Amino acid sequence: MRGILDNPLLLAVCAMLGSGLIGYAAYRKAALTASGAWAAAVMGAAYVMLGGPVWFGLLIAFFLSSTFWSKWKRRHRSKAKAEAKYAKSGGRDAVQVWANGGLGLLLCALHALFPHPLLMFGFLGVMAAVNADTWATEIGALSRSKPRMLLGWRKVEPGTSGAVTLLGTTAAAAGALFIGIAALLLMPLDGTIAYDIHPAAIAGAAAAAGIAGAVADSLLGASVQAIYRCGTCGLETESEMHCGTDTVRMRGAVWMNNDVVNFTASCLAGLIGAGIGMLAMPVQ
Ligand SMILES: [Zn+2]
Repeated sequence: MRGILDNPLLLAVCAMLGSGLIGYAAYRKAALTASGAWAAAVMGAAYVMLGGPVWFGLLIAFFLSSTFWSKWKRRHRSKAKAEAKYAKSGGRDAVQVWANGGLGLLLCALHALFPHPLLMFGFLGVMAAVNADTWATEIGALSRSKPRMLLGWRKVEPGTSGAVTLLGTTAAAAGALFIGIAALLLMPLDGTIAYDIHPAAIAGAAAAAGIAGAVADSLLGASVQAIYRCGTCGLETESEMHCGTDTVRMRGAVWMNNDVVNFTASCLAGLIGAGIGMLAMPVQ
């Protein structure tokens, strides 16, 4: 194994094959579209080339757990109802793959060039937020109680942007902590992360950044995100098309779609992760 890892060309080939296989399996399971599978294969290989087990391990932890939750009780009535409101349903496409993993890859590349624990903490925050948001969406859709808007607290239909449930919020916290625990397990294996950091700082940074990211996601979804109404069936949706016709924009900016909202929330979570890292770092 040592020989393979020391040879950059062989490592690149193995990384491409490995992430290509995961991308293909996800495509066959309809978790990714064809463009999403290609994006995931390239992105996964880049993570392996630029970072150690913490970097690609957290990406895989996010990907496998979110795929699991998205397939969990897929046929459930309330989940199908929520899914009808999303801009994109079914497999994730390339834009969604880059919106979820692109910022993390940037931090991974920066860390390869300028190794510093704050970049690792920023990455932890980003991945915790992305994971918290996905778990909250997939598990929260199964809530028995109707979601409420975070702004104004009025009851709305499942799947509405900016709405929260107790189940979804609990799932967000669990998703954030899951990334923190995965990071703690992966750190001893990773030569690129040989920092002397208290485990509580890792778990705390992931939990705080992940929950803050999920809250930011809901606040943006309730305020500035573009929301449309279908002229045919009357459904409020994130999508510009419904029932085969163009929908009418009710509020929000056209460019402020779900991918932009997710990306903004993960930037904020990255800053919070790095901020907690600054507090936790030993004084020099
Ligand atoms: Zn419609």
